[in-house]
Amino acid sequence: MKRAVVLGAGGFIGQHLVARLVDAGTWVRGVDLMPPAFAPSRAHAFVRGDLRDPQVCARVLESPDGGGVDEVYQLAADMGGADYVFSGRHDFAIVSNSGRINHNVAAACAARPPGRVFFASSACVYPRACQIDPARIDCREDMAYPAEPDSPYGLEKLMAEEIYRQLGRETGIPVRIARYHNIFGPHGAWNDGREKAPAALCRKVARAGDGGVVGVYGDGLQRRSFLDIGEALAGTLAVMRGPDPEPFNVGSAETVSIAGLARLIADVAGKRVHLAFEPDKPAGVRARTSDNTRIAAQLGWWPQEPLRDGLARLYPWVAEQVARSERACVESAA
Ligand code: NAD
Repeated sequence: MKRAVVLGAGGFIGQHLVARLVDAGTWVRGVDLMPPAFAPSRAHAFVRGDLRDPQVCARVLESPDGGGVDEVYQLAADMGGADYVFSGRHDFAIVSNSGRINHNVAAACAARPPGRVFFASSACVYPRACQIDPARIDCREDMAYPAEPDSPYGLEKLMAEEIYRQLGRETGIPVRIARYHNIFGPHGAWNDGREKAPAALCRKVARAGDGGVVGVYGDGLQRRSFLDIGEALAGTLAVMRGPDPEPFNVGSAETVSIAGLARLIADVAGKRVHLAFEPDKPAGVRARTSDNTRIAAQLGWWPQEPLRDGLARLYPWVAEQVARSERACVESAA
């Protein structure tokens, strides 16, 4: 039986990845500061541990027979949506915490080599200059250098890519890297300050009455693409099991403005809403999308579903969380 360790297994993508690997017959150890918030982990073993501690990293990457495990998926990071990574209020924590995690994980892999290592990088590594003109967005994998990410979060990801790349080059461990572009789906942050645009807008639409007001960060014209979690897992496994150590974009090429995303969610919810733009809120770069040319050609993967289909799964889940939290407020006030 193949043995995998998923780091960040309590997080949004990590918990779904654990379930996907378990369903495929892999034995999985999940590791995180916290278990998943909305449903129990499907991992065979779940270790609550802090990966900033090198001894925890060494312990969790050891297989039961004392060697290395077959696969390590490194998704643990201090991260969140625009309010968290673009506000400037959490940058030291982000670079320090995620930096320590990645140094420790790479060192533990070097000491006890696993069969393969996957690192979850981000579209935030791309230079600001490639993402100014919506008509000329350029997020091809080879555009990441010269480096000028728009956030310390993106710079830490680029540095971590380099750590894992050098780990692979010097030790011979096959290292695989995906640059995720806005992954969304149920069981992610929706109301804790780390939520990203799809879940945040679902929450605002769910809370708005018919004809109500929904706040949209910036002028709403900033463009993004969003990838459903199921598609992201297929892309992740294509990258991990593929032959190429250089980073791949794992994202959708279907761009939408943030205002357009809010309108699409309202449509899925069957509500008429008014958008109120909030220019003082963090909005990130002007335009970003996934260039899937390389991953389609090399690995035969690209997203299959329109954005609307994934939103039709996310919205009811967020609406249910909103309804539950409102019921809990009423009960505690009674
Ligand atoms: P998430 O925040 O839901 O999951 C990250 C997990 O890491 C959390 O459960 C957190 O508790 C854990 N973690 C943080 N510090 C830790 C520590 N010191 N020790 C142990 N665990 C720790 O994020 P996610 O959306 O699931 O993203 C997973 C990975 O993919 C992250 O590395 C993220 O940067 C990357 N990524 C995600 C997206 C996206 O749209 N979700 C986009 C680009 C990149």
